[in-house]
Amino acid sequence: IATLALVLGDQLNAGHSWFKTVDNNRLFVLMEVREETDYTQHHIQKVVGFFAAMRNFANALSNAGHKVCYIELDDPNNLQSVTKNLSLLLKILPKAQQVQLQQPDEYRVDHYLQDWAEHQSVEVKWYGSEHFLTQRSVLNDWFPDKESFLMESFYRRVRQQTGYLMENDKPIGGKWNFDKENRNKLANKQDVPSPLLFSHDVTDIVTMLEKKEVGTIGRIDSQRFIWPTSRLESRQLLDFFVENLLENFGRYQDAMHTDHWSLFHARLSFSLNTKMLSPREVVEKAISFWQTNPSRVNMAQIEGFVRQIIGWREFVRAIYWNHMPNYSTTNFFNNKAPLPSYYWTGKTNMQCMAKSIQQSLELSYAHHIQRLMVTGNFALLAGVNPDDVDAWYLGIYIDALQWVELPNTRGMSQFADGGILATKPYVSSGSYINKMSNYCQNCHYDVNQRVGERACPFNSLYWHFIDTHHEQLSNNARMSLILSQWNKQDKAAKQELLEQAHCYLNQIDSL
Ligand code: FAD
Ligand code: SF4
Repeated sequence: IATLALVLGDQLNAGHSWFKTVDNNRLFVLMEVREETDYTQHHIQKVVGFFAAMRNFANALSNAGHKVCYIELDDPNNLQSVTKNLSLLLKILPKAQQVQLQQPDEYRVDHYLQDWAEHQSVEVKWYGSEHFLTQRSVLNDWFPDKESFLMESFYRRVRQQTGYLMENDKPIGGKWNFDKENRNKLANKQDVPSPLLFSHDVTDIVTMLEKKEVGTIGRIDSQRFIWPTSRLESRQLLDFFVENLLENFGRYQDAMHTDHWSLFHARLSFSLNTKMLSPREVVEKAISFWQTNPSRVNMAQIEGFVRQIIGWREFVRAIYWNHMPNYSTTNFFNNKAPLPSYYWTGKTNMQCMAKSIQQSLELSYAHHIQRLMVTGNFALLAGVNPDDVDAWYLGIYIDALQWVELPNTRGMSQFADGGILATKPYVSSGSYINKMSNYCQNCHYDVNQRVGERACPFNSLYWHFIDTHHEQLSNNARMSLILSQWNKQDKAAKQELLEQAHCYLNQIDSL
């Protein structure tokens, strides 16, 4: 063996140039390590999903004739650290002259690999991950003179560069963005297809994690693990999405419903973030279906979907690499409160919170609007320390890797970056949740009441947020209307609302 090539758990990219030819002198190394299971407390389905997908990927490489070394978590020789295991392998394989690494996506991993590489006597060669459409440095490359960036300008540039949904340099349909036609509440008569679920027996991995006492959160049915763990299954999920869900994707993107946990969402984030699927193939498959089925998928649906993948997903990564490491400690509002205990149990009388959290503990998944406008919104209204909010989101979701979790949580949902990612804080009272869901119908609280024993907590906490951060928000043009509404309310009404909010904040754990 002359070369060791490291494949991390989120680098399961079968299309990477590394795998184009078989080289008997190159050993691909994959490893399950405590360093990765323990850097935060993950959902059990997340750890199992990663390990199962890594094992399948290693088998696929072996079957294709490549040489593979796979180190399981309970291997007695496992040193439980990526770099320590690499050093050990170099000792065991003295003829190895070169280590090949793919550029990692997380700052933490990048840091420890760079550090290790600097201290090696063998050559360390870096490769791109060949996954994203844009480079880490894209914001500086495209907007060298700008300090703040709008997702919309970034997205248009990606459209122009890739040619997706473009005709003669113009956006197809005459507009870049069709959002106004989307984002409805779920219609009563609307059928929602049952999600495509897999049914893996993952007892061996679960037993190993228990034996090794790996601390996790959430639940798992070890005989019916529902997430895709291979490229084949990821492609099945993509096909299912395109054929059954794409036609209503944008329309119900912001809808929430007690009977449907994933509605018309793709549930492709785990496959994308592990790189079992590439963003190009996802977008191209969707566009091709739209082109051949114009009577089923309209422009607003396809544009809405393409924007998530080539716009938001690439943009949050660009923000991450543009602002790390400082981004991970931002706290614009100086929030300090701990995360309420029901984030770990789902036991709260707030139906929207209970449903979103219970679903997250059960399935390691919540869709975007549950993350943003229910659990994220509430954490911000309750003044929770963004460190705690981050740790929760990083642990609980199967798709959570820091490069995508952090900008979404710190930036979009908590406004802790002071407006680098989002143009205003995503906060709302209960009326938004009521408008987009059926959660309020059987809730213990009354969404129409602002004060009183049964008043929806989102209502008074919302106005308390506006009052508390009035000064910090006064320069934000997008907040001016709401600030002036608050200013216009009479003193007694304001006082009553603030008292209600303080009462809720004082007993936040028992709401
Ligand atoms: P769909 O709604 O079907 O969207 C399709 C795809 O678009 C997704 O698979 C995803 O790849 C991409 N996408 C859509 N919105 C975003 C976005 N804002 N950022 C990046 N990609 C996007 N996404 C993660 O992948 N990992 C995370 O850890 C993560 N943490 C989040 C935390 C918070 C507080 C919020 C508000 C959002 C977070 N997101 C995260 C973004 C988004 O919620 C998920 O990508 C989405 O819910 C995944 O489910 P889906 O595949 O069904 O998505
Ligand atoms: Fe949530 Fe308030 Fe509606 Fe209850 S009434 S579901 S707490 S928004």
